[in-house]
Amino acid sequence: MIGAKPNYARERGLTLARAFAIWLRELQPKVLIAHLLGWLGYRAYLLGQGDWGAQDLIPLVLLLALHPFGEWIIHVFILHHRPRKVLGLRWDYHAARMHRLHHRDPWDLRFVLMPLPIMVLGSLAGAALFWLLAPTPGVWATAMLVTAAIMLYYEWIHFLTHTSYRPRGRLYRRQWRLHRLHHFKNETYWMGVTRHLGDVVLGTFPEPAEVDPSKTARTLGFDDQS
Ligand SMILES: [Zn+2]
Ligand SMILES: [Zn+2]
Ligand SMILES: [Zn+2]
Repeated sequence: MIGAKPNYARERGLTLARAFAIWLRELQPKVLIAHLLGWLGYRAYLLGQGDWGAQDLIPLVLLLALHPFGEWIIHVFILHHRPRKVLGLRWDYHAARMHRLHHRDPWDLRFVLMPLPIMVLGSLAGAALFWLLAPTPGVWATAMLVTAAIMLYYEWIHFLTHTSYRPRGRLYRRQWRLHRLHHFKNETYWMGVTRHLGDVVLGTFPEPAEVDPSKTARTLGFDDQS
């Protein structure tokens, strides 16, 4: 669902409230909010049934600890996947193509938001995996509630870094700066968007001053618009 014309949120003096209103006009945030509310409702229903306890802390702690690595892995292996031929077939992902367009014009909101296929497949895969791992429906619902919250948080922060909203506050200023370094200095570093523990642990968190600007930050090394 890609509109024909570029879509920017680059007006001067953009407020947080205005950026939020622009974000909410898009389909993906609506879907992610509905997704979060759905799991919240199911979790509350199970709470009423007495299905809760200390075990709910396990998915909460684990998912928050894994979140930075999830961002890193998806960004490196799916979004920056290099299309290639395997046995005569082109191996590429829709999400990777959208991400190449996102690097071409980082301000165009059509390519900022999470592609719907990755959103739907990711949630379904998470729901199936957590269903197998969770000892109770309550733990499953907690795991999915945390996942839904992380996805929504990611979507909002990534969107906001690609608007003209000026950062206030230390946490967001850091996210804003590091994601811009990924887009405008060197696309092989700073692969986290909202969290950077993955970069620190996996060696993609250099001192910015020591990194040479990359010539392929806009193209990811592909001349074609594919
Ligand atoms: Zn699409
Ligand atoms: Zn971006
Ligand atoms: Zn990227």
